Amino acid sequence: MSVLQDNIAKATAYLAHFRDTGVLNHIDGQSVPAASGQTFETVTPTDLSVLATVARGGAEDIDRAVAAAKAAFPVWSKTPGAERRKILIKVAEAIEARAEEIAFTECMDTGQALRFMSKAAIRGAANFRYFADQAPHAENGEVTRTPTQMNTTSRRPIGPVGVITPWNTPFMLSTWKIAPALASGCTVVHKPAEFSPMTAKLLVEIAESAGLPKGVLNVVNGFGEEVGKRLTEHPDIKAIAFVGESRTGSMIMAQGAATLKRVHFELGGKNPVIVFDDADLDRAVDAATFMIYSLNGERCTSSSRLLVQDTIYDEVCARVADVAKRIKVGHPLDPDTVVGPLIHPEHESKVLSYFDKAEEEGATIAAGGEKVGEDGCYVAPTLFTQANNDMAISQEEIFGPVLTAIPFQDEDDALRIANDVDYGLAAYLWTNDLNRAMRMTDELQAGMMWVNSENIRHLPTPFGGVKASGIGRDGGDWSFDFYMETVNVSFPRATHKIPKLGG
Ligand code: NAD
Repeated sequence: MSVLQDNIAKATAYLAHFRDTGVLNHIDGQSVPAASGQTFETVTPTDLSVLATVARGGAEDIDRAVAAAKAAFPVWSKTPGAERRKILIKVAEAIEARAEEIAFTECMDTGQALRFMSKAAIRGAANFRYFADQAPHAENGEVTRTPTQMNTTSRRPIGPVGVITPWNTPFMLSTWKIAPALASGCTVVHKPAEFSPMTAKLLVEIAESAGLPKGVLNVVNGFGEEVGKRLTEHPDIKAIAFVGESRTGSMIMAQGAATLKRVHFELGGKNPVIVFDDADLDRAVDAATFMIYSLNGERCTSSSRLLVQDTIYDEVCARVADVAKRIKVGHPLDPDTVVGPLIHPEHESKVLSYFDKAEEEGATIAAGGEKVGEDGCYVAPTLFTQANNDMAISQEEIFGPVLTAIPFQDEDDALRIANDVDYGLAAYLWTNDLNRAMRMTDELQAGMMWVNSENIRHLPTPFGGVKASGIGRDGGDWSFDFYMETVNVSFPRATHKIPKLGG
């Protein structure tokens, strides 16, 4: 048996329980079908076969899940931080113990390659560990004094929160929202993406088996415009942490307006990687190709615009095209695969539509630009050259293994092009001139910048975007600011004079 066949056999065994029972909702510690009894099918993008039926939740399911989260909140929010920490560390350990199952399930459900997904569970566990360690002191604030008053601030968990996640790396993404929410003392209703519901169910089962009390984390599956909408409108949900497209973020903001919902948005990107002619080109090419062709390019921080100084544009494009052509496209469970199938035929059609658009707009397809094979959603790693920043391929988030290369002349030109998009999530800068790096990073419109590096995440640092890429920051203490309310209590330091009114 080849490694791939062996892995497919293992995945089939891991997925058997989902095939038998379907992907159910999880409310108040119970796996339950949708109240309406309705289901939808989740398919694998490897060959579009059905993996399982999924509970198609509706308003009633959200109402039940919110009621469970509300009922669990008083006890969980008052559980000492050190106790919450212990439970969340156990969750991290339980995730690690089932890392292979999570990775294989994710590969089959999303099409992401095993070489990257094998780390997704470990990274998810790291999220739990990191935020667990902050739980014991999350409520602490500061003391400030005036001549008459002593002010003490502290933080309290905001209440039951809604977490709405997308389909790219769903396990890892849901843990970086759910872990800080739970560490803060909030209870959660999670609405996973309809294209990738499986690992959310694993997460809640793992968490409860590790000791998370019933009702603290609940999962309701279904469609965005049905359960997602109801969750964002629910009066007992105090905040919504959302990861997804910018236009969905704007809908959620409108839906949550009537109940004054606090929102945290991690949205789309069209991130530049800017390469000056003094850069280490070997490293720049490796980093640029890694950031667009890993995770199928379905990555919010992907370097989807390659801005290259005109003096080295042809050379860099030739090198990137060469890498793109050599990348292995294949089954996600093949350990050699770099690019697996895109999540779903709908998304594949969107990505393929940009190949025609690129040619209509006058760009050149220097690599890829085509579907691979007949079955499944496989698309070749693609490079568009001779592009300018006005083209749709330069402005719109394609969210696939598709890179648009644009030449620039000098620093001003690079900055103008880099900033001339609606988005502002990440930027990557390649230069060996320190002063230039300082000038550029001062002016780049992005929430996160990496100089001479690909995206390397460090959990204590802030993660998030500017402009249409998001509102709020994850990581470090920023996550706690979102899931908690800061309150101030003022005490008199002495018997001060109180103004007397009325005579
Ligand atoms: P999407 O916006 O279509 O869906 C995300 C989630 O929102 C899904 O669970 C969906 O069901 C739900 N949803 C849809 N309509 C809704 C509504 N009206 N009310 C409430 N919920 C609703 O996004 P997607 O296509 O699943 O994911 C890809 C997008 O996610 C890309 O734009 C990508 O850049 C972005 N993303 C951003 C980050 C980040 O950190 N900035 C990380 C990963 C992905």
